[in-house]
This record gives sequence, structure tokens and C-alpha cells, in this order.
Amino acid sequence: MEVHNYINGVMSPSISGQTLPLYNPSNGQQYATAPNSSADDVESAIQSAKKAFPTWSSLPTQERSRYLNKIADLIDQNHEKLAIAESLDNGKPLWLAKRVDIPRASANFRFFAHAITQFSTEAHEMTDAINYTLRQPLGVVSCISPWNLPLYLLSWKIAPALASGNTVVAKPSEVTPLTAHLLSELCIEAQLPPGVLNIVHGYGDQVGPTLTSHEDVKAISFTGSTRVGKEIAQVAASHIKKVSLEMGGKNPNIIFADCDFREMLSNTIRSSFANQGQICLCGSRIYVERSIYYDFKKHFVEVTEKQIVGPPRNDNSKFGAIVSEAHYKKILSYIELAKEEGGQILTGGHSVHPPGYESGWYIAPTIIEGLDNNCRTNQEEIFGPVCTIIPFDTEEEAIALANGTKYGLSASLWTQNISRAHRMAKKLEAGIVWINCWLHRDLRTPFGGVKESGVGREGGLDALRFFTEPKNVCVKYQ
Ligand code: NAD
Repeated sequence: MEVHNYINGVMSPSISGQTLPLYNPSNGQQYATAPNSSADDVESAIQSAKKAFPTWSSLPTQERSRYLNKIADLIDQNHEKLAIAESLDNGKPLWLAKRVDIPRASANFRFFAHAITQFSTEAHEMTDAINYTLRQPLGVVSCISPWNLPLYLLSWKIAPALASGNTVVAKPSEVTPLTAHLLSELCIEAQLPPGVLNIVHGYGDQVGPTLTSHEDVKAISFTGSTRVGKEIAQVAASHIKKVSLEMGGKNPNIIFADCDFREMLSNTIRSSFANQGQICLCGSRIYVERSIYYDFKKHFVEVTEKQIVGPPRNDNSKFGAIVSEAHYKKILSYIELAKEEGGQILTGGHSVHPPGYESGWYIAPTIIEGLDNNCRTNQEEIFGPVCTIIPFDTEEEAIALANGTKYGLSASLWTQNISRAHRMAKKLEAGIVWINCWLHRDLRTPFGGVKESGVGREGGLDALRFFTEPKNVCVKYQ
């Protein structure tokens, strides 16, 4: 199988003909190749996007909306095929790709297809004049996305960028490009005009610099690691480009004794280990009020041990494979680090080898206790099925522990005390606070992080505002 670039409406290999290997995480075998693109491929994509911009940006909003709805329909019609591809490429359970990733990708297109038809601008009246704000598309924009939710996050960027009249050069992760390839085919089927959306595959450090520094690229929307986000921020600053950065997290999950224990427990399993812990919003530091610490620990470990880690295609696999060998090794090395730092592994802490899939990359959900909040295990993003538990005594202590990292993406809070919930939500250093829930999403809400987790917000009006430039027009009455 060969993944292709999608440039100027045509699917093609890289100009140099070079490829990169794609691996199936469930068995560690190579199953396909993708273009190992270079600056030349990116240049060609940018030029085709530039050529397409005048016509696309002048289409009536309803027309652009129609294209997006058509793409959403095609994603729905190809739900099974896309889910199989996502699971194959990423290692996530097929049931999860079917239930979450693919429906959310079509929802992203449909949401922004509607949102753009409701997008309005402000007017500011003076006694002798009226100001109104135009919101105009930027031009060619770059959308760079990671491997953990491949089509879900790619479409979350592409849809608002296109809806608001920009043309796009997108760069999916080189680790999981398969559903982006299938999306390209669907865009051709939807008769999206050539050049409106271009998708270039390849290693980030080879194609990234042209994507972010090119003078014809007016904005960069990035989701990925804080390390790469910082590099992109520097490039964007030196070229004075608009930039939105959605980066890493080390999210706290704060549990009070007065919570609904059953509801909290099932959600904590999910928030710790869903998608093998490879969701930027996963709660990896769990703080538990001391009076229920031992009860929580006992039940959390017991329920975690019942979860099946296995081949992504098996319906009873609650958790699948880790996305790549490099990432698998990185997670295992963090488990070793946790032990060196004095952590006790309460469950997991090792790889798993399901029969018939012995060479796949599987790790048992891992719970660690006995670590200081300031150790590396509790400060650095592991991005795997690994969490730590720590007791606390007071609300103030919980806040200090939760806020005690350089990250600030999301936080979960479990309590029946409504005053405490509001009080703490205000004090938590995070872009998103969930009270008595986790990953409960409304696409209209602002999505993003603070501190080293991000700059800017995605979602709803925030995304449409990011992808447009406001221009004030002042008309004086005569
Ligand atoms: P990554 O930063 O390694 O790569 C992300 C993307 O950037 C990939 O497409 C990659 O090819 C590209 N890239 C790499 N170097 C580049 C460069 N110099 N210029 C331009 N592009 C470049 O991240 P990853 O390993 O793919 O994903 C995991 C990370 O993503 C985790 O840190 C996770 O927390 C984060 N993430 C954040 C969110 C969020 O919304 N905040 C969501 C999902 C994942």
C-alpha cells in the first residue's frame, strides 16, 4: 500500500520518489510507505494553494459550506473503511476509532460548515460615525497535526480554515498518515476545487521548516509536542506570522472524598488510559483526598487489572497498541525512571505480548505511587498508559500540587461540593476544567492550554477568528 501526497487536486508520490516506512503497531510489521517529501513538494503545495485562494475565498459562504458538508457525508459513508485504517495505522482499538475518531472527523466538517453560515462581525457606533469589522480570510495557511488522533485533529484544523475562506497546506504526522490519504480521495470525490486543500506527507524536520517559514504562508496552526511547538513559535516570531499552538500536557485529576465514587472511578480509568494514555487531555497525575486514598487505590488497581490490552481488531480489547516502537520504548524508559525515583508500581509497569501479536507494542496500564510531585515522572509528559497517585489533605494543597508543573492544558475535579468546584476551577492553571466528567466536549467551546501547553484557542468562534483577519472600517457621517 502506498500513501500519496495530495497537491493541486492530484494524488502523487513525492517529487524525489523517496518514501518512508509505515508500521502496524499491533504486530510491529511494516505495511505501507508514505512520501518522504522535501521542501520541493511543500513549495508545490503552497503554490497550488496560493493559486486556488482568490476563487475559493470569493465563493459565497453557503458554497464553501456545501463542500464541507459533502466531505462530512463522504466520511460518514466511509466510516468502516476509515476506522479500520485509523486503527491499523495508530494501534487504537477498532471500536474506539469507530465510536470516536471517525464520527468526530465528520462532525468537525459539519460543525464548521454550519458555524461559518452563522459567523457575524461587530459594529461599534460613535455619535458621528460607525465602525464595522470585516473578517477576511488570511490566504494560505499551514495545518500541522500529531499522531494520537490523526483524522480527528487534522479535520479539526482543516475544517475551520477552509470554511473561513483560506486555502490549506496540511501536514499530518508521518507516523499515522493513512486516514489523511483516504481523506484526500474523498476530497477528490467531493470535487473540492484543486489546490484548496493540499496534504503533504513526510518527516517534520524536513518539510516543517518550509511549511512554517514560507512567505506565502500567512498562519500556522500546530498541534503536537511542546518541543516542536517552541521551535515553530520561534520561526513564526521571526517571520511575524499568526500562530496557534496546541501542545503537551501533564494533566491533574483531583478527587475529593465527597465525589460520586462509582462515576469517578469509571471515568478515571478512561481519563488515565483511553487510547493507551495517548490523549493530550489524559489525567496522568491523580491527587486523592487522604481519607479515601486507600479505598481509591484498591478499587482503581482492581478495575485497571480487569481491562484487556490486546490486538486493536478484537472487540474485547479495551486498550490497543502503542503507536510506534520509539514511543513504546520511551514509555517503558519512563517506567524505569519512576522506579529509580522511588515509585512503587501498583499494577502494570511492563510490556504485554498478546498471543499471535508478540512483536506488537503493548504496555499494561500502569499505576505508580510514592513519588514526589517534583520528580521527573510527575513533571514530564509521558503520553502513555502511566499515571501516578498522590494523597492530599486540603483544597489549597491540591491546587498547589495540580498547578505545580510547566503545563496547563486540562484538569478534572471530582466533588459534590458545588462551591468548592467553582472556587477551584477559578484557581486551576488550565485551559479546560472538567467537573465530575472528563473529555465531555462541546465543539463551540474554546479549546487550548496555558503555560507550556499552548497559545491561542481552537473550537467554535475562536477557530474562525484565528483563521480570519479583522479589519476595522470607520465611516464618518456627512
Ligand atoms: P510532534 O511535535 O513530534 O509532531 C507533531 C507534528 O509536527 C507532526 O506532524 C510532525 O511531523 C510535525 N513536526 C515535527 N517537527 C516539525 C518542525 N520542525 N516544523 C514543523 N512541523 C514539525 O508531536 P507528536 O509526537 O506527533 O504528538 C504527540 C504530542 O502532541 C504530545 O506532546 C501531545 O500532548 C501533543 N498533543 C497536543 C494536543 C493539544 O490539543 N494540546 C492534542 C494532541 C496531541
